[in-house]
Amino acid sequence: MIAVTTIEEVRQYVASWKKQGYTIGLVPTMGYLHEGHASLVDKAVEMCDKVVVSDFVNPTQFGPGEDLETYPRDFEMDCKLLEEHGADLVFHPEVDEMYLEDAATYVEILNDMPKQLCGKTRPIHFRGVCTVVSKLFNIVTPDKAFFGMKDAQQLSIICKMVRDMSYGIEIVGCPIIREDDGLAKSSRNTYLSPEERKAALVLSKAVKLGEGMARNGEKSCENILKAQVQLIEKEPLAKIDYVSAVDFNTLKQSQSVEEGTLFAMAVYIGKTRLIDNFLYKEGE
Ligand code: AMP
Repeated sequence: MIAVTTIEEVRQYVASWKKQGYTIGLVPTMGYLHEGHASLVDKAVEMCDKVVVSDFVNPTQFGPGEDLETYPRDFEMDCKLLEEHGADLVFHPEVDEMYLEDAATYVEILNDMPKQLCGKTRPIHFRGVCTVVSKLFNIVTPDKAFFGMKDAQQLSIICKMVRDMSYGIEIVGCPIIREDDGLAKSSRNTYLSPEERKAALVLSKAVKLGEGMARNGEKSCENILKAQVQLIEKEPLAKIDYVSAVDFNTLKQSQSVEEGTLFAMAVYIGKTRLIDNFLYKEGE
């Protein structure tokens, strides 16, 4: 696997691959990789000839007081995992390679989508995500890009940005990878104490509860959300940020359970904010 730190090097490798007729897959990450990220790489390897992974903790998507400085990093471990899963190139830039000192351009969706769900407590988050993903699209010029359903709002917003900006890149959404006990894998799980780790199971339990209700024919989002909230509130270490039902494509609130209804939550376990969700699909 090739490891590079500059935009120019990425462009050169990609140009030579395109000349040889290879298709390119991009997997954007913030590093500290786990099996969730690996599943995206696997999918990319399956669907594309060459796979580029970006490994960059993007400062523009962190708000004041968030965990930019403490976000876990281990580039050596990341390279090992990426090599094992068959990535071809990892792009690991410094902040000043991605953002010039006088950078003043952002990519931002101006409707309500970035203001819903996580956007309520993280108002600049999706502007940062759209900006860095746009830059990565321009640098790597992939045929396909791979994102996890773990960050469902992000995936919905990226799809919208790609449509609005005519990127011509296929966005591939990949399912949530969980620990054996159900907790969605996340780099931020490392923040949890052993006691908090146990308490964190309340998210996946609430997801499972809601999913079961929906599959059993419950059509009222309100009833499902109420049951999820009640379950989460039983856990003393949990504090709800939001538990919501929205349409996946528009992120507008849903009243009744339909194809594409997204049940999403963000819950603080101690100081750590965790997210989880399920997407309702008919016949699944
Ligand atoms: P991050 O490094 O947290 O920015 O995540 C990079 C990509 O990996 C995003 O598209 C995430 O949605 C995806 N991802 C993170 N955790 C998981 C998981 N547990 N299952 C599937 N995809 C994931």
